[in-house]
Amino acid sequence: MKFINLTRRTEIGANSYYLEAAGRRFVLDSGMHPKFEGEEALPNLKALGDRRFQAIIISHSHHDHIGALPVLMRRQPQARVFMTEPTSELGNALLHNSVNVMTRQREELGTTLYPLFTHRETDRATDRWQSCALRQPYTLAGERVSATNGDSVTFEFFDAGHVLGSAGILIRVEDRTVFYTGDVNFDNQTIAQAAVFPAEKIDFLIMECTRGDTPVPATWSRASEEQRLMRAIENAFTRGGCVLIPVFALGKTQEVLAILYKLRREKVPDCPIYIGGLSAKISEVYDRRAQMGRRQLPGLQLLDDLRPFVLNADTIQEAQPRAGRIYVLSSGMMMAKTLSNIFAQRIVDQPQHSVFFVGYADPESPAGVLRNALPNEQVTLDPTEAPQPVRCHIEQFQFSAHSSREALIAFAERLAPKKVLLVHGDPFGVEWMRARLSSDLPNSEIIVPAPGMEIEL
Ligand SMILES: [Zn+2]
Ligand SMILES: [Zn+2]
Repeated sequence: MKFINLTRRTEIGANSYYLEAAGRRFVLDSGMHPKFEGEEALPNLKALGDRRFQAIIISHSHHDHIGALPVLMRRQPQARVFMTEPTSELGNALLHNSVNVMTRQREELGTTLYPLFTHRETDRATDRWQSCALRQPYTLAGERVSATNGDSVTFEFFDAGHVLGSAGILIRVEDRTVFYTGDVNFDNQTIAQAAVFPAEKIDFLIMECTRGDTPVPATWSRASEEQRLMRAIENAFTRGGCVLIPVFALGKTQEVLAILYKLRREKVPDCPIYIGGLSAKISEVYDRRAQMGRRQLPGLQLLDDLRPFVLNADTIQEAQPRAGRIYVLSSGMMMAKTLSNIFAQRIVDQPQHSVFFVGYADPESPAGVLRNALPNEQVTLDPTEAPQPVRCHIEQFQFSAHSSREALIAFAERLAPKKVLLVHGDPFGVEWMRARLSSDLPNSEIIVPAPGMEIEL
């Protein structure tokens, strides 16, 4: 069995992994890097040489896992594409949004390469996706089979508890098994229920390491964190300011809305909430699917129960920060020209306003820079604008959609696979996981797969 890590660096970026087994070739995920442009933002497809493959299997619809799918489908037109049904619904909306973003960047960056794919190509691509049920083995030709399907290669999706539709992927090859966690959460979130992963013997585990560089504080619990957020919102309003919470449009927006819904039933005043257009579209999918599949608060209809106001690329230009309001805006990393970035520039130098961070941000992204800035430090949120002094109130909360490193370690130890491949983490986090697993699992080989290198499993 062969494995190639198609990311360009050890990092969370354009996630994509190639596998070859029993004469079958396929790829897990086809992400786009949020920080780079053009070919550099794509998985390293050159590492595949002239290999043609049968299938592309997508774990979930975050940009860093699905963003380059239309490009990969264009270059490998014979490949079948598989994902869960919610991932296909969400992925469709996200890729069309991505075309809009790239079309705008075409002018900003002055690159004729953009958009890397069009709305029409996205429509043609999504028509070819096949939705698969959870806990059902399929062949790479897309046929549903029993788990004991002789010698062919099969795959099976398991609920990963990360965002709506997210799945870990179990691959059975003759008498061997590979399990790819995708992005996973082993704990309940406010909407998403914890992952349910396979208990069977796994030979090769491909595992994410997003939180490999941070331990969970001993005193942390989701409930106490919700209370801390509630007090922080009250304090922010007492200071006479608003609260900006930068979020991913998919997952974190809906989780934060659900937290605010719960807090409203307690003490937080019934204040106006603002979200972006893409977040609203995705929340619609969450609402439509609220009673289908596993989730918490199945009776909660985010858009009806919270009645958020919706801002778009035009209306954000006039949206003035107003006291006693909560702005739950994407992007989560506050990339330049996104709603959260534009809005942050209006409040960052004003002490009455607050920015609350609630999830992962690349340390070099504008959100990462602002999160770590000292009071009065000059920060540049958008390279085309002047730096600003940080005077607003900044606080950080832990509502990650990713598993703690402790739970990842416990999962790997329970499976005790022959080999563990560590992916989807910053170098320090991946290295911490490697060192810890190497000492805890002396009979397993712990591998940090070098980008672009073929590994024989
Ligand atoms: Zn994700
Ligand atoms: Zn990811």
